Amino acid sequence: MITVENLTKRYGSSTAVKDVSFTVEPGSITGFLGPNGAGKSTTLRMLTGLTPPTSGTATITGKRYADLPNPGRVVGVMLDAAAQHPGRTGRETLQLSASLLGVPKSRVEEMLEAVGLSSAAKRRVGQYSLGMRQRLGIAGALLGDPAVLILDEPANGMDPEGIRWMRGLLQDFAGRGGTVILSSHLLGEVQATVDRLVVIGGGRIVANGSLEELLAGSGTLVRGLDPIGLNQALTAAGLSLEPLTDGALRVDAGAEQVGRAAAAAGQILIELRQSDGAGLEELFFQLTATTDLPAAA
Ligand code: ADP
Repeated sequence: MITVENLTKRYGSSTAVKDVSFTVEPGSITGFLGPNGAGKSTTLRMLTGLTPPTSGTATITGKRYADLPNPGRVVGVMLDAAAQHPGRTGRETLQLSASLLGVPKSRVEEMLEAVGLSSAAKRRVGQYSLGMRQRLGIAGALLGDPAVLILDEPANGMDPEGIRWMRGLLQDFAGRGGTVILSSHLLGEVQATVDRLVVIGGGRIVANGSLEELLAGSGTLVRGLDPIGLNQALTAAGLSLEPLTDGALRVDAGAEQVGRAAAAAGQILIELRQSDGAGLEELFFQLTATTDLPAAA
């Protein structure tokens, strides 16, 4: 369980993270989503004791990171996959972490196997692709057999096969009761992986809920033979809507209500459905578009 309460981080006159609160429950994967500069890394750094908060608290299994007796056995962290020492091999990197954590060397081989790096274990990390470094970072996070995983942009640099692999691994981890938070600046990258989303823009939480809740909140997608006439008819019926770039309309109402309003105005529909992932994408852009610069303190 991760609990973040009223976290704020100021750098001089700018506020990177402002009054952020959310929880991540065991047995679930939460996506921490927001555009670059939104405050994701700063929040995750405060959560893992690397950056002191200006105010507020963050706890993992009820304790601040700094107060966990052997943090690597409780929480696996990957904040910057590119930061691994380029001169060490993948195996050496994990062996070093294993000795710091006090876990047996055999665990290193298990983890190399689990992330598909056994055959590359003897190569220097400097020769790894970003996707391979992400795999190594995930192996490092899993070494101490933690109950909680905190991963900053783990899908960055991974190919679709790598993302699918990671999805399986994280879903398996959460299925065994693990708690996972992973950040991303791309909704499409994590949408199929996560159960819940915490969306941050300009240092503030702008949406927080299950994927279903956020999808339901994205309304109905409708397309008419006469897009302008349909827009006018639905607006005249008092429905709030937004034209999408491809000529469809996203309406804040159920499909039946939209269908009835269109029928009453004699508008012919060629598509009518609950707004899906594309709607969520639209929602993501809306939520973050106006808030993607950090607010002043
Ligand atoms: P994200 O991870 O969502 O891309 P960050 O948390 O890295 O965003 O950054 C949030 C904001 O805080 C950005 O405007 C960034 O420039 C600023 N910031 C982050 N770290 C520092 C720092 N050490 N000093 C000053 N500003 C910082």
